[in-house]
Amino acid sequence: MPPVIDKTKCTGCRTCAAICPLDVFGRQSAGIRVPEIRYPDECWHCNACVLDCPAQAIRLRFPVPTMLLYTDAPAISDG
Ligand code: SF4
Ligand code: SF4
Repeated sequence: MPPVIDKTKCTGCRTCAAICPLDVFGRQSAGIRVPEIRYPDECWHCNACVLDCPAQAIRLRFPVPTMLLYTDAPAISDG
């Protein structure tokens, strides 16, 4: 599942597009501030765009199989 950008927070800095290893965001279109999710199926949920967005404007929706594979251990122990 592709990243979701909060348009109210995004400043249009394009950091996400610059660091994405799979070019999910594509090239910048003239006059469009918020990056387009041009290739949503290419996202492999590495979380780099979420961590590097200076405006904390991106969140990821993880597919269920991925959620089952990567569980936050502290969340379980606090449980
Ligand atoms: S890194 Fe964050 S603020 Fe910058 S363009 Fe991407 S979503 Fe917008
Ligand atoms: S999670 Fe990784 S692969 Fe997916 S859009 Fe962000 S940087 Fe690109």
